[in-house]
Amino acid sequence: MPNDILIRKRWPAMLLACWAGIAACAPPPANRSGEDAMTLQRERLVEDLRAQGIRDARVLEAMRATPRERFVPPDGVAAAYGDHPLPIGHGQTISQPYIVARMTELLDPQPGDRVLEIGTGSGYQAAVLAPLVARVYTIEIVPPLAERSRALLRTLGLDNVEVRTGDGYAGWPEAAPFDAIVVTAAPERVPQALVDQLAPGGRMVIPVGPQRAVQSLTVIEKSASGEVSERRVAAVRFVPMTGGESERP
Ligand code: SAH
Repeated sequence: MPNDILIRKRWPAMLLACWAGIAACAPPPANRSGEDAMTLQRERLVEDLRAQGIRDARVLEAMRATPRERFVPPDGVAAAYGDHPLPIGHGQTISQPYIVARMTELLDPQPGDRVLEIGTGSGYQAAVLAPLVARVYTIEIVPPLAERSRALLRTLGLDNVEVRTGDGYAGWPEAAPFDAIVVTAAPERVPQALVDQLAPGGRMVIPVGPQRAVQSLTVIEKSASGEVSERRVAAVRFVPMTGGESERP
């Protein structure tokens, strides 16, 4: 699908892109029929994602297994399975399911991988990655969001995810190198520290471009010999990556 069509089709959703607040506080469904309704909605979501071209069976299974309603604020639960982003507080959003699935598929996650995410937000992307890889390291710059996600991921028993509060521009040097890096906020340029922390043979998926405008979803690959290549795969709209003072002119 050409980028402009992708953009037009997804524009309303992308415009809003990230929720960040009250998500982890969303109560689990109150009763059995509530649970069944959410399970049904997740099945439908997976069918939609398949129809939109998501092919990786492990990614689809992770989307089916992740309770998105737990990652949205209480007033967003009814809309949790719509294919659009939702506000999560602090001016941020939880990305729309299609974008989460697409970015996860582009990362090509492998069971032994160590993955870095920049922009924990609600914790949803980290939760989708958790069953697919060995370990997820995720960094969030807004402290209340980091705290909420840390608590929720622990409650859900996702013990292979570690949440750090901080500025993701510098990456996570102590845990580097990473087999895969996913960035869910848009910087104007690719942070060099993240390229440096990518292992040989590794992949990074990152939206790059001007703030409050259309950005390019970019896949960066590092070959076994350390050569770096870059390709743009779609036009997207993400919240800006903040921080990075040391990188700005
Ligand atoms: N992956 C998230 C979506 C996150 S929205 C999810 O699944 O819900 C983008 C997030 O990136 C926001 O929470 C924002 O606060 C965070 N962010 C922006 N700049 C950042 C930076 N420099 N370091 C770490 N997190 C950052």
